[in-house]
Amino acid sequence: MDAKEYEQSLKKLKLNVYVLGKKVDSPVDDPILRPSMLAVALTYELATMPEYRDVMTATSHVSGKTINRFTHIHQSTDDLVKKSKMGRLLGSLSGCCFQRCVGMDALNALSITTHVIDQKHGTAYYPRFLKYLAHVQDGDMTCDGAMTDPKGDRSLPPSKQADPDQYLHAVEERKDGIVVRGAKVHQTGAVNSHEVIVMPTATMREADKEYAISFAVPSDARGITYIIGRQSCDTRKLEGMTFDRGNVCYGGHEAMIIFDDVFVPWDRVFMYKEHEFTTQLVEHFAAYHRQSYACKVGVGDVLIGATQVIAEYNGVDKASHVKDKIIEMNHLNETLYCGCIACAAEGHREQSGTYLVDLLLANVHKQNITRFPYEIARLAQDIAGGILVTLPSAKDFESPDVGKWVEKYTRAKDGIPAENRCRVLRLIENITMGAAAVGYLTESMHGAGSPQAQRIMINRLVNMREKQAIAKKLCGIQPAAEGKSKGTEG
Ligand code: SF4
Ligand code: FE
Repeated sequence: MDAKEYEQSLKKLKLNVYVLGKKVDSPVDDPILRPSMLAVALTYELATMPEYRDVMTATSHVSGKTINRFTHIHQSTDDLVKKSKMGRLLGSLSGCCFQRCVGMDALNALSITTHVIDQKHGTAYYPRFLKYLAHVQDGDMTCDGAMTDPKGDRSLPPSKQADPDQYLHAVEERKDGIVVRGAKVHQTGAVNSHEVIVMPTATMREADKEYAISFAVPSDARGITYIIGRQSCDTRKLEGMTFDRGNVCYGGHEAMIIFDDVFVPWDRVFMYKEHEFTTQLVEHFAAYHRQSYACKVGVGDVLIGATQVIAEYNGVDKASHVKDKIIEMNHLNETLYCGCIACAAEGHREQSGTYLVDLLLANVHKQNITRFPYEIARLAQDIAGGILVTLPSAKDFESPDVGKWVEKYTRAKDGIPAENRCRVLRLIENITMGAAAVGYLTESMHGAGSPQAQRIMINRLVNMREKQAIAKKLCGIQPAAEGKSKGTEG
């Protein structure tokens, strides 16, 4: 689909969406939601442009047809590297979260796990998954990947919760499918998706096997409700196309998705009670999505560009400390890029033929993402100045009473219109503390797993024995002798 066809396809969905407590008839036209739809539309538009085709499209291993890369199952490390490049490209052109990665990551994780479950249990999840994949690829669909349950009391497993719906589960098993109840929270791009792919949120043990469940449903399936999360400065979008929005083109959105007894036919169920495979599914999805945080490198590009612009508008771009701070911003941003390229280049083939990123490097990349954007944002605010938070509104510029004063006293370098200076300040505000800060900062912290989740994985994946052995060898420690004296090794 191209961008227009994508928008039309969303209009056909009968989604049950609430924004600020009110039901929205046409999410595509809602002023708060529309910028987020336009950001996803960019993933379609770029795929039709010859200069981006190599990065944005791929050849389906199922049909042999050219497809949007967001629906592709990675067939090589080259595919993985292109995925990272695609993320940076889209982040740098949208300046926000373009939302379509979660579904791509869910599809790839499921392509591995369904195959492994079939090998062990003789089930038929993998062929079922491939049929579903063909449906997604043929329709060039946007899928939402829904993983995070509300979780209730964090000290208790799903089966011990006072309210059993705190983790999504099946409440009825029928001949033709299952009925599910629960919720998924923090759902990126939910109402811009044609499909919702649900996965368990964590490792499930035997006692919690009712919660070891994965499936896909159309986003407008009966019983699904979307409640859109508030974002900082979101109601500025209701003020029209003023420069107070910062990013006047694009935005993101997050939603809480309620599954109130939703029916799922068996041919759309990809895991049901096979709790011993939940760890793998969660870890693989997380690793793919941690790689996807290449998007933040692209948003970093926008922020660095905006910072250079405001430095020039303010006449401070030649100051050596300003130059040095911008070098530091670039250094941090390119270091992030190294991580998402490295975990892709070091990927490997899984049993199903799907290529998986290097888990350790993907976790290290995401761990850096929880930190560096904050430092890049700090430097941007340092250079931009306190006017970031004291700037009068765009409406004051239009005021017949005070407009002339606002215009006169927000001007800096001669020849630069005051409005241009205000626009770039608003963009920096948008990315570092406004609506786009949801994506650039807090989502960098918690999206694809909070920092501690990556530290646990880093601890588990690093080969500490090997490092110890090399160190001991180089300084002449004899393993046998040490074993004798301490009685612990040998
Ligand atoms: Fe994609 Fe980044 Fe948005 Fe996640 S935060 S959906 S990786 S753009
Ligand atoms: Fe995310």
